[in-house]
Amino acid sequence: MQVQSFNDLPLSDDVLRGIKDLGFEKPSPIQAQSIMPLLQGRDVIGQAQTGTGKTAAFGIPMVESIDLLDRRVQGLVLAPTRELAVQIADHISRISRYTGIRVCPIYGGEKINKQIRQLKSGVHIVVGTPGRIIDHLERGTLKLKDVHTVVLDEADRMLDMGFIKDINKILDRVPKHKQTSLFSATMDRNIWKICDKYMDRPEKILVSEDEIALEQIHQRYVKVDTSSRYPILEELIADQGIRKAIIFTRTKRGAHQLARKLKNSGYNADSLHGNLSQPQRDRVTRGFRKHNVDFLVATDIAARGLDITGITHIINYNIPRETLSYFHRIGRTARMEAEGTAITFVAHGEEKAMADIKAQTSTRITELKTSVNVKAGPAEKHRAICRKCKIEFDLPFKPTDGRPVYCLPCLKTRKRHYRRRH
Ligand code: ADP
Repeated sequence: MQVQSFNDLPLSDDVLRGIKDLGFEKPSPIQAQSIMPLLQGRDVIGQAQTGTGKTAAFGIPMVESIDLLDRRVQGLVLAPTRELAVQIADHISRISRYTGIRVCPIYGGEKINKQIRQLKSGVHIVVGTPGRIIDHLERGTLKLKDVHTVVLDEADRMLDMGFIKDINKILDRVPKHKQTSLFSATMDRNIWKICDKYMDRPEKILVSEDEIALEQIHQRYVKVDTSSRYPILEELIADQGIRKAIIFTRTKRGAHQLARKLKNSGYNADSLHGNLSQPQRDRVTRGFRKHNVDFLVATDIAARGLDITGITHIINYNIPRETLSYFHRIGRTARMEAEGTAITFVAHGEEKAMADIKAQTSTRITELKTSVNVKAGPAEKHRAICRKCKIEFDLPFKPTDGRPVYCLPCLKTRKRHYRRRH
C-alpha cells in the first residue's frame, strides 16, 4: 500500500502530534517506504541523499520503539559530524516532544563531563559521532547492552572520514538481536560489508533525489522546430519568470554555442561541459551558485551531481536521449522545500521520446503554448553534396552559400583527423 499520510501508519497520538508540530503533512518518499518496515522490526538499507527526510524516516519508528519506563539507552544513532549529530538529536526530540523520551547528542569538542552527567541522568536515545561514543564506551560512561535499535546515518561519509574501525567496534558492543538500519547516499563494497556483517535480511529502499522532487516539479513541454527553438527560449525567459535555470543541450558544442548566443543577447549565461578543465568547471559552477550566472547551459554528464539551490527552471533545450536522463535532469530543481518547473522542447520526430518519458511517471506533463510559430511537419530538409565523397545527402538546415558541407561519415573522419592534429 502506498502510504499517503502519517495517519495511514500505526503511530501513537503523541508522535502524530509531534509530527504535526513539525509541519509535516505527508511522508516524503523515503519516509513512506521505510517507516512501516522499521515499525515491524525489519532491518533497512536506505539509499537516499541528504535533505530527503531521512531523519524522520528512522526517527519516528525509533521513538515508537522506546520503552519510556526503562531509562537505559535503547536507541543509538551514529552520524559523521557533530553538526549532524546535534541536528538529528534535535529533530528526534521534536518528534518525541509529547512522549517524554530523552534524547542526547554525544560529540567531540564539547566538554565530556557535561555529557557524562546527561548520560547518568538517564537517556533513551543517543545520537553521536563514532569517536566520542568510543571515548564514552572506554570510560564506561555509556552502556550499550540494552540497545535494540541502531541507525547508521550517512554511512558513506562516515567511512570517508575513516570511522570504519570505530563503527565496527561500536556495533560489536551492542546486542546481536537488534534492529539495524543504514542510510547512505552511495553504496560501495565497504558499506555492503557492514550490511552483510550486522544486518539480517534487510529491506532495501532506494530513493533517488530525482524521484523525490518530482511531485513538486511542474512539468511542461513545448513544441519546437529548428528555427523556432531559440526564439521560444527567449520568450519563455521573458514570460515564465525564469530567474535561475539549467538549460540542457545534447552536445558539448551545442552547450557552448547556446551559451554564447544567450550572452550575445545580453543574458547572464555560461556553459558547463566535458571540454572544460576541472578549474574551469569549478569556476562556472561557483558563478552559478553565487548567482553571478542566471543560465547555465550544460550537458548531462557535466551537470550530474550538481547540488545547487534556488534553481527555478530546468529547460531541456534538446530532449534527453534516454528517459532516465530526463529524471536526473529535472531533479536538479525543486529541493525538498521548494517548487520548480521543467520545460522540455520537443521537435518533430521526438514525440515518441516524450511519450516514453510520460509513461515512466505518474505525474502530469502538459503542453505549454508559445506565440512563436512552429511548423507542424517534419523539419525542412535541404539537398547538399558532400565536399569529400561527392555524394548527395539531406541536411536539416539550409547550407550557407559557398561554405563546404560534409555528410555525417565524412564529418566524423574529419573530426578524428582534426583531433589527432591538434
Ligand atoms: P536528511 O536527514 O535526509 O538530510 P532531513 O530529515 O533533515 O533530511 O529533512 C530535510 C528537511 O525536510 C528538513 O527541514 C525537514 O524538516 C524537512 N522534512 C522532512 N520530512 C518532511 C515531510 N514529510 N514534510 C515536509 N518537510 C519534511
